[in-house]
Amino acid sequence: MDDKKYTPVIGLEIHVELKTKSKMFCGCLADYFGHKPNTHCCPVCLGLPGALPVPNKTAIDWCIMIGLALNCKIPNFSKFDRKNYFYPDLPKGYQISQYDKPFCIDGKLEINVDSYKKLIGITRVHMEEDTGKLIHSMVDGKDVSLIDFNRSSVPLVEIVTEPDFKNSKEVKIFLQKLQQVVRYLGVSNADMEKGDMRLEPNISLKITGEKSLPKYKVEVKNINSFKFVEKAIDFEIKRQKEILESGETPAQETRGFDEKKGKTVSQRSKEEAHDYRYFPEPDIPPIKFTDLEIDSLKKAMPELPDEKFKRLQKEHSLSEYDSEILTREKSTADYFEEAVKIGKDHNVLPKQIANTIINKKINVNNVLPAELIKMIISTTQVAAIDEGELEKIVKMVLDENPKAVEDYKNGKTQAIGFLIGMISRKLNNIKLDSQKVKKILERHLN
Ligand SMILES: [Zn+2]
Repeated sequence: MDDKKYTPVIGLEIHVELKTKSKMFCGCLADYFGHKPNTHCCPVCLGLPGALPVPNKTAIDWCIMIGLALNCKIPNFSKFDRKNYFYPDLPKGYQISQYDKPFCIDGKLEINVDSYKKLIGITRVHMEEDTGKLIHSMVDGKDVSLIDFNRSSVPLVEIVTEPDFKNSKEVKIFLQKLQQVVRYLGVSNADMEKGDMRLEPNISLKITGEKSLPKYKVEVKNINSFKFVEKAIDFEIKRQKEILESGETPAQETRGFDEKKGKTVSQRSKEEAHDYRYFPEPDIPPIKFTDLEIDSLKKAMPELPDEKFKRLQKEHSLSEYDSEILTREKSTADYFEEAVKIGKDHNVLPKQIANTIINKKINVNNVLPAELIKMIISTTQVAAIDEGELEKIVKMVLDENPKAVEDYKNGKTQAIGFLIGMISRKLNNIKLDSQKVKKILERHLN
């Protein structure tokens, strides 16, 4: 089989749950994870007749911040729409989403793949509400499906990319970067295991060199780990290639990913937009933004990973490698900068701080920046002890501990550990280069 004959065409839909205090259209607590079922609901998020939705302003601001971080344009006019479909976890019979006027359009995000950089197009970023959760269980020996509405109407942002990915590796790198951006913004924990971030790749193959997109598209629904996305994509590329090689065209459909078998399975034929009978949400007026409002959101945004990476590298003369590791998580970058401030008063260089954090794998939640600086100072004092001084102390300790010296000469080599301890005590317990001290000791003892 000729591997070069087909080129994968891959796009992504990503759902990110926002960590706002309240839900999207009512005052219920949005933090549903681990709470007793059906305790965070009200007539609005239960879809009771006559209940009216009121949009959550913070959620809309955060959705736009995600769009801005992905270099999107923010149109001045936007609106909500109803997406109609029936499913038991959707009590209203429709989801409030956005159809033709999303909050953010036409963005891009650059990714670093081993030897090359690549721009991934962002088609749109829009706001919608999450559904309730179905729990399949057993009650009195019978199979039942239970519904928990705590998640119903939790703010959900959907990010849609252009079909710009060529393989699963590019997808994974993009997703890691997106997760990092969302966490830097502080708008979502983006915790895959808790379902804060859900992934839906769409995959098809075209004949290499052909301009137009393939006539079919296979979407894989609701994957909740980066590893499984990679596996699902690799599996689909192989499966579709085999179908194309046999002269057929893969079916346009939605598939699920079977984690245990490591393969995708057919679920249903793919629905088209017109199946949802979208129409403007009559209970929420259209939303207009002035340029000033969008500018002030832009100003309220924290420094993003790419900017922080470049700034740390430049300001502190760090290597690309060090700066990349330090900015992977915002908490590490903040910790580093705090330590640099403290270190300045003690002549500890940023480079020493970066090395210590990275090489010693410092847990930034357990060691205070000031403690880290102390640690660096005490280790560098090892070199500061004068050789002659050290020799004198070694001789003194040997004179004072004849029993340990005798033990050593009689083959009890562990006595050397005791002697090193005594030397350290004479130097007010500062950290010693024990290999160096051991060598001096051995020279005197033999
Ligand atoms: Zn509610």
